[in-house]
Amino acid sequence: MALLQYVCSVPLARAVRSRSRTISSLAVTVPSLKKVVNGDSQVLLGMSEKELQQLAMDLGQQSYRGKQLHHLLYKRKVKEIQDFSHLPQAFRNDLQDAGWRVGRSPIHRAVTAADGTVKLLIKLEDNRLIETVGIPVEDDKGSVRLTACVSSQVGCPLRCSFCATGKGGFSRNLQRHEIVEQVLAIEELFKNRVTNVVFMGMGEPMLNLKAVLEAHRCLNKDVLIGQRMITISTVGVPNTIKKLASHKLQSTLAVSLHAPNQTLRESIVPSAKSYPLDAIMKDCRDYFLETSRRVSFEYTLLAGVNDAVEHAIELADLLHEWGRGYHVNLIPFNPIEGSEYRRPYKKAVLAFSAALESRKITVSVRQTRGLDASAACGQLRNEFQKTPLLTDSDNLQPSQADIPIVC
Ligand code: SF4
Repeated sequence: MALLQYVCSVPLARAVRSRSRTISSLAVTVPSLKKVVNGDSQVLLGMSEKELQQLAMDLGQQSYRGKQLHHLLYKRKVKEIQDFSHLPQAFRNDLQDAGWRVGRSPIHRAVTAADGTVKLLIKLEDNRLIETVGIPVEDDKGSVRLTACVSSQVGCPLRCSFCATGKGGFSRNLQRHEIVEQVLAIEELFKNRVTNVVFMGMGEPMLNLKAVLEAHRCLNKDVLIGQRMITISTVGVPNTIKKLASHKLQSTLAVSLHAPNQTLRESIVPSAKSYPLDAIMKDCRDYFLETSRRVSFEYTLLAGVNDAVEHAIELADLLHEWGRGYHVNLIPFNPIEGSEYRRPYKKAVLAFSAALESRKITVSVRQTRGLDASAACGQLRNEFQKTPLLTDSDNLQPSQADIPIVC
């Protein structure tokens, strides 16, 4: 889901090394390594310390080499195996000969807004571009909170009517390392630790839940970002809230409502047709019962569409019907090119917020960040990737037609 509406409102295909120098030990160990990496075949980023220790041992090294690998990947953020200078040259060669790579991608473009928000375009191995945003916020005591808003898919299939990413089409799910590397890229750029991660960039995280959960584990255990500092946002995908609840994460689940009733919601979020509002609210209540973590609700205010006080009253009634203590984040719409929607007047935002508060719903109005950095989700990517994205059924091999038009 596109947080970029909220907080911003925040080496090309590397040839796999020849395996011709296969050493005898690899012939028996490679199959077990594939099992270890669980989908991200031959990519080091995203692996746990234990998995890296196992990998080192499978390659004939002592397990402490795995700890060193972990340090190089997550603390030193080294991007190439040959730059693992702490490791013996022979081990580096063995890793490469077995087809391993770090899994970091180059930054294609970085745009900085006047308020310090930075939007990155990261160029993936298949030449596709994804957006990541770094949002620095200084608190009252002068310490800086750095939020990384990460993408979970290349594009998004859900096509919410106000969203630039939805308008840009869908290509594919991201792999776990492609999610993790976004956070490392922000840390590098800001030369600071990321304190918060929000899955609110391009894509619907619940449609790529396996990779999102794997990336979540890595961000928590390896990059050392507290679970409570991580937010997973969804516009609602049937049967996935229950699945997420079963993992009992201490992270925040943010559900994007954008409307207080089913009819209006369907007009803003077309995918809502397959997941009625009552069913979402029931799943949110069950999520709290299962995890003891209250769901927070996102509501993008669109001028003249869903921003009337009557909508606020209806929203308060809906929330009270399904529980107590809910929190609503109001996000004044961040205008995108070609959109039929307008940004709400400040007066309307304040009236909406006051109507909720007077009905005992806690509210935050999100600051619009980085408006001058094409900050709404998908905007910058759309500026650079003018060619249509492939659909699921298309051949996903990179081709000339896939290569984005860049300056
Ligand atoms: S189209 Fe996708 S990325 Fe955009 S708001 Fe909807 S779910 Fe989020």
